[in-house]
Order: sequence, then structure tokens, then C-alpha cells
Amino acid sequence: MDIDVVEFASELIAMPSETPTSNRAISDYLRGVLEAGGFAVEECAYIDEFDVEKVSLVAKKGAGAGGLGLFSHSDTVPGDAGWEPFAPEVVDGRLVGRGAADMKGPLAASVAAACRFDAGDLKRPLVIGVTADEERAHVGAHDIVERSQTLTGGWPQYCIVCEPSELQPVYAHKGGAGITVTALGVAAHSSTDRGTSANFRIAPFLAEMAELAPVFKSEERFQNPLFDPPTNGFNMVISDGDTATNVTAARTVARLSIRAMPDACFEEAVQMVLDRAEAHGLEVQHRSVGPFFASADGPLAQTACRATGAPRAITVPYGTEAECYQDYMDALVLGPGSIAQAHTVGEWIAVAQLREAVEVYTRLIGELCR
Ligand SMILES: [Zn+2]
Repeated sequence: MDIDVVEFASELIAMPSETPTSNRAISDYLRGVLEAGGFAVEECAYIDEFDVEKVSLVAKKGAGAGGLGLFSHSDTVPGDAGWEPFAPEVVDGRLVGRGAADMKGPLAASVAAACRFDAGDLKRPLVIGVTADEERAHVGAHDIVERSQTLTGGWPQYCIVCEPSELQPVYAHKGGAGITVTALGVAAHSSTDRGTSANFRIAPFLAEMAELAPVFKSEERFQNPLFDPPTNGFNMVISDGDTATNVTAARTVARLSIRAMPDACFEEAVQMVLDRAEAHGLEVQHRSVGPFFASADGPLAQTACRATGAPRAITVPYGTEAECYQDYMDALVLGPGSIAQAHTVGEWIAVAQLREAVEVYTRLIGELCR
């Protein structure tokens, strides 16, 4: 089946699937395309913590064991104001729209390549995975590795996560922790002296975070020189809901993030932040996503280098669902588009690279499934 990848990616961009909303519509559409392309499609649906239906798909064609899985997600970050996120258009050789790079473009390229093959041509199975809730701690990916009968009944040997990497094979990336620290106060007009400011309650903790930042940045044990930059990207944002200056803040929230790398004392760094928040009696919530680390010159990396012409596999500082898949399959990240475009206003992907990705995935399927 012949699919024009630019038209297909445009159709997907025109179906909004921002993470907080249901991705049922886009999943039903993808299911139809995959079935027309000869795949048996399994649906893994669930109701998320906000009572919204989410759908992940796992599609398979070809007999035998092992083979290759191409994995993507169908959710995107919100469209933001100030542009037309769901009205895709090609401008100066770029396809523009929410998800063009992260990751409806790469998803479209993987499906277009997979639909070129007849089941009868495949000696080993070809799997397409499309998850929900990637942008929310990889919930959909964790769900399919536990629940998908297609996967747990016989894992593909190899796994490509099609996230944008400018078609560079990626063998390792950072993970991360998100920590939310909340201070509660009592709102009152400051003239009454009856209030308690949440900002003053959280201030001592914030001062300690300011002391911690240069420690993480300078001490070698928190670094891994295989990454650029080698540091853990410790960051903090703060909100008191824009409280007026004559009102005491009722609630102040600090959100902190630490990127995880192997061999860089990630757990210890997270614990240092948690301990300080607890010592000040603040409310704390935290969620971690692990790092990904595979062989830089194993068979999959070598095959991917041949398919792309890249001299070697690289590491990147952003996270992907490869962290969920690496325990079950030999994994690699490889996709068209730049992560610098992800989550931006005016997000785009180069049309030439999108078309090249279809050829790269076709070569990989040809080598690993035939
Ligand atoms: Zn993504």
C-alpha cells in the first residue's frame, strides 16, 4: 500500500490529540490505516486518572519470532495560542503544525514504510506501536509492555523508538524526575495582619535549592561525560498564582526537574531535594522517568548506521519511551525532525527529512524482517 507521508502526517496533525484530551478519534483512524496495510491491530484502552479514555495500539504482521517494532505516540503537548496548530501547511519545504516533529511526522513515516511490505514478504514479524500519554510520564508505553498480548506473547527482537533525532541513531539518553513542592498559607488583605504568606513558608527551601544548583553543576559525581551537556539540567519554576502585593499568598508551588543519566548519582540528587522539602514541612510529590542505555555498536546500532549513513550512534539529553522498552527488546531511538522543534509554537519538520525517514525505515524493515 502506497502512502504519501506528507499527506498522511498532515491528516494526523489535523486531528487534535493533546495529552489531557482523549486520543480515541486519531487512534480509530490509525487503526483503519494499519488494517488496510495488512496489520492485525490490538487496542489497549484505559481510563486515565482524570476519567478520560486513552487508546494505545499494537499492530503486527508477518509470521515467525523476533523481528522489528517501530514505536511512536499519538498524543501531543497542547496547541498554545498565537498560531494555527491543527491546520497543517507546507511552507518553504517545512510541514508546520502541532506534532509535526513530536511526533506525528515520525509516526506517519514509520507507518508509511511498514505499509509498503506484504505480510508474505516478511520472514520475521513487523510491529507498529502507537501509545497514549507519552507526554505524561510514558503512561501508555508502561501499559502496553504490561498488557499487550501482541507484545508479551512474543517480543520483537529489535525496537526503534521513532522520536525526532534528525535521523541520527541514539543509543542512550537521559531520563528525569519531576518534583512538585507546595507551601500553604492563609490569604488575607495585608492591612489586616491576619494572613500567612505561603511565599515566606517556602522561601527557606528555595534558598537551599539555589545552593544546590551549583553543586549539581560542578561536582563530577553528578555528571556523565558521555552526554552533552554532561550535567543533570537541574531546574526550578515557581508560582504563587500571581498574588496581588496587598494579599498574602495562599499557595505557592515550586516545580523542580532533574535529568537522569546512568552513573551520575541520579537517585541521590532526587533524594537531596526531597529531604530538604520534607525538613521544611512542605508537601511533596514526585515522579521519575528512567534513563535509556543500549549498546553503541551492537547489531541494531550498526544496522541503523548503515540505513542512515550516520558514522556512529550518539547520546541525547532528552527522554523517550525507550526507557520502558529497553528491558524487553534491543532498543534504539531514530526518527526524523529535530527535538528543538518539539513543544514549540510554529513546530515544523523538514519535508525532505520526513520523506527520507520513510526510506530509512524501509531499509531497516528490509534488513531485520526479511
Ligand atoms: Zn515525543
